[in-house]
This record gives sequence, C-alpha cells and structure tokens, in this order.
Amino acid sequence: MKAMVLSHLCNLEEDESPLNLVDLPVPSPQEHEIRVKVSTCGVCHTELDEIEGRIPPAKFPIILGHQIVGRVEQAGGKAGRFHLGERVGIAWIHSACGVCSFCLSGNENLCDRFQATGRDVDGGYAEYTIVPEDFAFRIPQEFSDSEAAPLLCAGAIGYRSLRLSGMKNGEVIGLIGFGASGHLVMKMVQQKYPNSRVFVFSRTQSERDFAQELGASWVGSFEETAPEKLHVAIDTTPAWKPMVVALENLEKGGRLIINAIRKEAKDKESLLGLDYPRHLWMEKEIKSVANVGRRDVEEFLRLAAQAFIRPELQEFKLEEANKALVELKERKIRGAKVLRMG
Ligand SMILES: [Zn+2]
Ligand SMILES: [Zn+2]
Repeated sequence: MKAMVLSHLCNLEEDESPLNLVDLPVPSPQEHEIRVKVSTCGVCHTELDEIEGRIPPAKFPIILGHQIVGRVEQAGGKAGRFHLGERVGIAWIHSACGVCSFCLSGNENLCDRFQATGRDVDGGYAEYTIVPEDFAFRIPQEFSDSEAAPLLCAGAIGYRSLRLSGMKNGEVIGLIGFGASGHLVMKMVQQKYPNSRVFVFSRTQSERDFAQELGASWVGSFEETAPEKLHVAIDTTPAWKPMVVALENLEKGGRLIINAIRKEAKDKESLLGLDYPRHLWMEKEIKSVANVGRRDVEEFLRLAAQAFIRPELQEFKLEEANKALVELKERKIRGAKVLRMG
C-alpha cells in the first residue's frame, strides 16, 4: 500500500519534505481489530508537534494522521461490530486500558496507557490502517468522507473544549486563533448558544477575514482589546503570548481553556509579562484539554449532524501531505486540510 511515512524528527523550517512516499505491506487486523481502507484523512496541527519532536512518535518509521474516514475491509476473528464495507471514522484515541481509575470514571483521555493514532501506532496517511473495533465510530450519513474527517479531531476536541468551558447561552466567548478547530467551535457556538457573541483574535489577516465571513461579532489581532470582557476563552494557538492576551481580556471568574497538546518554545518569555492582579486575580481559571474520549467524538458527530455543522475544507492528494503540513506551519489556513487517497 502507498503511505507517507516519517522516519526521523526534523524541523519543518529547514526541511519542507519530512514525509516520504513508500510502499508498505497491507496490515492485518488482530482478533478485536478491523482493517479500514482509508478514503480521507485530516491534517492536524498535532502532526507538526510529532514531526518536530514536541510529542515524539513511539516508533520510526511511523504513519501519521488521526482524523481518518474509510470503509471496513477486513475484520479480526472476534470483531463483529461493523459489517464489511461499512463507513467508519478513527480519531486520536486509538485505545485506552479500560480498567484504570481514569478509564472507569469516564476520563479515558487521561489514561496512563492512552495510545494515540498516528503517534503510538500507525495512522491514516496511507491506503489502509488498523484500529480496535471498539475505538471506531459510525459516521452520520449527512457528511461526505472529506467533511467527516476534520470532525474527528478538530471538531471533537473543540467540542470537549467547549464542554469543559461550562459556557452558557448569552455569554461572550473569545476564540484565540482560528484554524480547523476554532472555526468548528464557532459553528457550534452559533448553534448551541445563539445569544452569545463570538470574538476572534488571530495573528493573520486571512484568519481574521475568514472569521468575519463566518459571522464573528468582532475580530482583532493580539495587540487589540476586545470590546467586551470574555466569559470564556479558548486558545488553539501554539504560542504563549495569545494566552496572556486571553487572560487580560477575561471577565472576572472567567475561564481560559487551552486546547493545544504542546506550546512551542519560541515566545515563552511572553509569560514574564504576566501580572497577577491584571491577568489572574479575581478567580480567573485556566484549564488545558488533553486528548479526547470516545464520548466526545460520538456526541460531537451527533451534534454536527443535527445542527448541520460542516467544516470548510481544502483537499490535498496523499502525495501532497508535505505541502499541507508546511502550509499549516505557515498558518496558511482556511478551515481544515484533508488528504484524499487515490
Ligand atoms: Zn488532531
Ligand atoms: Zn486506563
């Protein structure tokens, strides 16, 4: 099968082709696993963190990619949840232990033995992939294969962020950064919290224009101040300054949710500008979001289908994965990027 693989860590600013196209044997499912013929795979910012070593892959070479849509092509001896040919999705959660206190309390995303698709095991930048059947998802018929892919991470983690924020209808929300996840969170807010205003902060004019087109009540750069205080802020950027800006704009008792698996080291000194009374006092809260559980993916897919939440997207061929990744690094973003096989 054709696959785009990563063989070693590298810096995308020096090497714009970190992945190589190779021919690999088609993988075989174990007893409780299914083999999926991949149709589309979303490109996520987390792949940049894997390539550049902020969350290094567990093995090399590795096939990245964790927003996978395809069809069940073969089932292991004890796998019977899906019929052959059925469309399924695969998300960042490849598996969790199922018996630890986190798994048993509905927080499988925090499991010590959490395995991530495309980091700990091979993912979806390939023609075929393998997943335990209990960690595959049925995809509502409302979505095409390309539309469904970004829902599996950008959408699901955006949903988890919004859930953890405890936001209520009428409250003001600030989206800090406006990529694949941010634009889906905005669509969710418009559906679930129709009386809320959405303010978008972004470094790039193109992201700000995009946010405005999608109906943001206000857009601005990180040098600007929002017209009203934010009850909730969700930061999806890889940098530190946006966090400080979010805290500065946060209402008393407000909550900042950081939806980023890692922050880059570049502007870490921005944190020295943190001023306790201005940025933290008055019961402001900060919470990070880690991974997703199956519940987040399932609930979000259902909500997206009911509310007609569709991602804006750009398609690439599998062979163009490097191009998509470099554009993501350079923040040439308009919605979500999706690889299409064959
Ligand atoms: Zn992701
Ligand atoms: Zn566990």
